[in-house]
Amino acid sequence: MINLPSTDVVIIGGGWSGLLMAKELGAKTSLKITVLERGKPRAKNEYIEGMDELDYALRYRMMQDVAKETVTFRNTPKDKSLPVRQFGGFLPGDGVGGAGEHWNGMTPRFLPDTFELHKATVERYGKSRLPEGSTIQDWGITYNDIEPYYLKAEQLLGISGLAGNPMTGHRSGPFPTPPIKQTYFGQIFTDVTRDMGYNPYPVPCGNLSQTYRNPDGVIRPACQYCGYCERFGCMVGAKAQPTNTLLPVILKQKNVTIKTSAQVRRILTKDNRATGVTYVSNGKEYFQPAGKVILASWSLNNTRLLLLSKIGNGNTGRNLTHQVMGAGVTFFFDKPLNRFMGSGASNVTVSDFDGDNFDHSNLDFIRGAYISSPAYGSRPIANFGAVPSNIKSNWGGEWKKAAVELFDRTAKLGSSGEHIAYKTNFMDLDPTYTDNLGDPLLRLTIDWNDNERKIHNFISSKIEGIAKRMPIKSYIMNPPLRRYDATSYKSTHIQGGTIMGASPENSVVNTNNQHWQIPNLYVLGASTFPQNPSGNPTLTVLAQTLRAAKALI
Ligand SMILES: Cc1cc2nc3c(=O)[nH]c(=O)nc-3n(C[C@H](O)[C@H](O)[C@H](O)COP(=O)(O)OP(=O)(O)OC[C@H]3O[C@@H](n4cnc5c(N)ncnc54)[C@H](O)[C@@H]3O)c2cc1C
Ligand code: SF4
Repeated sequence: MINLPSTDVVIIGGGWSGLLMAKELGAKTSLKITVLERGKPRAKNEYIEGMDELDYALRYRMMQDVAKETVTFRNTPKDKSLPVRQFGGFLPGDGVGGAGEHWNGMTPRFLPDTFELHKATVERYGKSRLPEGSTIQDWGITYNDIEPYYLKAEQLLGISGLAGNPMTGHRSGPFPTPPIKQTYFGQIFTDVTRDMGYNPYPVPCGNLSQTYRNPDGVIRPACQYCGYCERFGCMVGAKAQPTNTLLPVILKQKNVTIKTSAQVRRILTKDNRATGVTYVSNGKEYFQPAGKVILASWSLNNTRLLLLSKIGNGNTGRNLTHQVMGAGVTFFFDKPLNRFMGSGASNVTVSDFDGDNFDHSNLDFIRGAYISSPAYGSRPIANFGAVPSNIKSNWGGEWKKAAVELFDRTAKLGSSGEHIAYKTNFMDLDPTYTDNLGDPLLRLTIDWNDNERKIHNFISSKIEGIAKRMPIKSYIMNPPLRRYDATSYKSTHIQGGTIMGASPENSVVNTNNQHWQIPNLYVLGASTFPQNPSGNPTLTVLAQTLRAAKALI
């Protein structure tokens, strides 16, 4: 073990949350800050040269290498947990910028009542409506507490959006840039749902509608709708990424150092204080002493590092949640849609059946989902082959002819539903399987419950109502929700494990993201979300990070 000179702050993970904290502390203090990132550095040139769907989107070039580290998975404690040999259900990031390099860029705020879910549900419907076995709890902060930080995060990224949707929370300031362009399909979806009395709106996003200069003086250009966005870095820098939004500032800060290829293994503690971290780099093991430790390695990694470091009060690993993504439909049109164009976030969204935006008094479930018309850009491999139900085979001449003809006449609606927490969904260390360094893997125990199935069925019925009004030839509805599986992609919004709260009795960190038992340890990211709202998490992660940085300073 090589002992290094001490640093004031060590940050584990160089993704959105870790680099934002580094930038804030770097700018507002004279503290010496060291960021340890297990992956490689990144340059914009990579993205200019690398728009290869097979390499990036299907073989996960930018994501965590499962040959080194993965998770194990089972539905219930009675099942045998097995390692996930190829990521599918979610795609952990790796390298400077983390998953924020290859994200879509959708940045909605959470609905106001999600921060007080327990209180809001019990007040409106009574305690008896909390689903059996659920462990719903409030965050300890309200929408009003986080709203100013939402605005700051939006200004930092230059979020493009349209204010005034009655289904979303209040705003204390405008979006920094107007909404991005909608596709032809998005416009059809807007017209149909507006006619039905719903409130469609363009999802707020970090894919810029126009050139923008942020408060740090960083300038980024407008989106080109190239379609190689989700799972890719942006070749022009229009999509907000840690490397084009935070790194230009950090690189000028003399008190911040980023070390790459530095895989942190443990956070060390003594007398209820963190003393530093151990990490492995190029086969050598180091001890980095530090005055403060900031854990920002993404949900599952945050939980695993706390468990490996034996830091916890019994709440670590609780409230594992993922979003309910399955309700959707595939449409077949009789004219081309130019679906090759699009961006990671040029979606139109309907939030009328999200959260508690509709009355659940006569329904047998709580919460809901948003419905959206994704327009990521139909890349040729992953999007080829959908055919209507009258084509019976999925191979051969008839299928090929139909698939070619319909490639640009196919479009989908999807949804993202809220996932509440249950006692039965949790994370711990796997007793059998280890990573390449010999450390136990994180074990996920997770399954869907009745509430999720009911949300899925309800939202499917609303989507089918929309399908019947669309100017299409035919449609195929997605199948019902069965067991949770780790192979089909849902979202990389798998959350919980180090949850935030107002009391150490039922949470891991306080409302400033500070660990209850180890006060010089902070935990950032969606691992702190007590349950999983339907909205994409990163804007909230950034707002929380700004709030935590202020408290820390
Ligand atoms: C395909 C895709 C699309 C997405 N689209 C959206 C979207 O549209 N909207 C949205 O809100 N969110 C989206 N997300 C999720 C979003 O990317 C994450 O919420 C966000 O990146 C989380 O930031 P983070 O800092 O918590 O973690 P990350 O960005 O994952 O960064 C964590 C970093 O920590 C490093 N690390 C991990 N373990 C260690 C260790 N032991 N030692 C050192 N370093 C370590 C990792 O290598 C990584 O670089 C998407 C994700 C993916 C994969
Ligand atoms: S769609 Fe726009 S934001 Fe996304 S990668 Fe292409 S140019 Fe960048």
